[in-house]
Amino acid sequence: MMSYIDIGVNLTGSAFRHDLADVIARAQAVGVGQMIVTGTDVEHSQQASELCLQYPGVLYATAGMHPHHADNFDQIATDVFREFAGLPHVVAIGECGLDYNRNYSSPQAQRSAFEIQLEIAAEHGLPVFLHQRDAHDDFVAILQNFRATLVDVVVHCFTEGEALAHEYLELDCYLGITGWICDERRGRALQQAVKCIPSDKLMLETDAPYLLPRDLKQLPVDKRRNEPYLLPHIAKTTAACMGIAEEQLAQIALQNTKRFFRLD
Ligand SMILES: [Zn+2]
Repeated sequence: MMSYIDIGVNLTGSAFRHDLADVIARAQAVGVGQMIVTGTDVEHSQQASELCLQYPGVLYATAGMHPHHADNFDQIATDVFREFAGLPHVVAIGECGLDYNRNYSSPQAQRSAFEIQLEIAAEHGLPVFLHQRDAHDDFVAILQNFRATLVDVVVHCFTEGEALAHEYLELDCYLGITGWICDERRGRALQQAVKCIPSDKLMLETDAPYLLPRDLKQLPVDKRRNEPYLLPHIAKTTAACMGIAEEQLAQIALQNTKRFFRLD
């Protein structure tokens, strides 16, 4: 059986509250042996960190604040994320970045929260788990300013085409590929773009419970909820788009993920 690590699972939300143990067991049964639980604000970063203690060696966490919540970013958040950055199971700062799609938080607050989190990551020598939507220019400008201070960077849930992939690759970023690639219509640009991602810069994620792959023959238990056990399905589609064997992609993604998050 091939081994996988899901680099983006939102396991702290209400979607998984009633059957988290089953969700983790289903993932492990198909080789998804480890998962990185995404922290999206102070409370959820705390919950993510606590989950790691319940599943040592299986779950790891990020600590950070999603741009949607940037209006709430304050000194307490800064202090909490600084403290979490020192925990052994907190393997990255994020998810942070910019999302101007609906501006749930003001663009100004988003930029400031993003910069502070990049500073924390730089101080602790931790990689960053980044989110960008409809904010490309500002996102790249800020990232450029900080890039030399940061160790590793992943742009999670990359859904764009080749041109943007190249811009991120020039900044020496990794790209996280989700089930977006399984969407025949919306995923077309991404299906092309993965061909140009160097093999040492690609990682895989479900972003569960979001982004359920659209081409599943058999729906999961909870029909609209994505789960980490579907990661091998995403790997299979991605490998086909890249024109390589599924085993090869799984191997590459696993190595990249262990290196990126400094997992043994
Ligand atoms: Zn995101």
